[in-house]
Amino acid sequence: MMDIWEETLNWKPSAQQQIQFQRLYELILEGNRQLNLTRIIDPKDFWEKHLWDSLRGIRFLISQEVETGDRGKEIDNKKNKIIDLGTGAGFPGIPIGIIVKNCTINLVDSTKKKINFIDGILPKLNLNNVRATTCRAEDIGRDNRHRKTYDIALIRAVASASACAEYTLPLLKQGGLAVIYRGSWTEEENINMENAVQKLGAIIESIEQFSTPLSKGDRHCLYLRKVSTTPEKFPRSVGVPARNPL
Ligand code: SAH
Repeated sequence: MMDIWEETLNWKPSAQQQIQFQRLYELILEGNRQLNLTRIIDPKDFWEKHLWDSLRGIRFLISQEVETGDRGKEIDNKKNKIIDLGTGAGFPGIPIGIIVKNCTINLVDSTKKKINFIDGILPKLNLNNVRATTCRAEDIGRDNRHRKTYDIALIRAVASASACAEYTLPLLKQGGLAVIYRGSWTEEENINMENAVQKLGAIIESIEQFSTPLSKGDRHCLYLRKVSTTPEKFPRSVGVPARNPL
């Protein structure tokens, strides 16, 4: 897969990172025996739909990582604080934690069993920059220890796009970026989204469309920039953003 990493991300994993990817795959297969973590278990599917897809969404961070290289310590105080909401078995957050060193990542899911699983595998993957929290997105977004404290918020396959915007944007500092991972994307969704992000104090900065490299699946990543403050009433109470999208 080295050529594909090079062609699509202009980057390739180090030997150490490849070992971590392999270990992650094995740990997830093992965990899947007891927990319903993922249906994507074929090695090629896992590579494409979990590893590649997770990293494609934050391609802009990978190029920064390559540029700053070993000057890690020097730029420590510029560490990006990242949150991954509804992380499930750790996607997209864990692959990002493996390759982007200059960041801290908080993996959040409402299912305690999934977070317990992640807590168990983080030390086996040597991931000191990643931690995991059991919480609903609607609750963590109202918690002052977390609200307005992140530089980047990620969300994949959790809810409708406007609910994803409502979950992620309150957590960002002003100027922060929400990355919403989607499959297909329609004009109707776009109109709803324009409306939702405006209420939440953000703009749609860009939308990237691409195909996955092996099975050519349709993908879109939405990049929302928080340009002002999110009104206190967001996120609304548990269940409301999904039931009654903005
Ligand atoms: N992001 C992962 C998992 C997607 S499945 C991936 O792309 O592979 C959706 C996950 O979101 C589930 O694990 C579910 O427990 C979690 N989830 C759904 N609604 C949530 C909410 N409101 N707050 C936190 N987690 C939520």
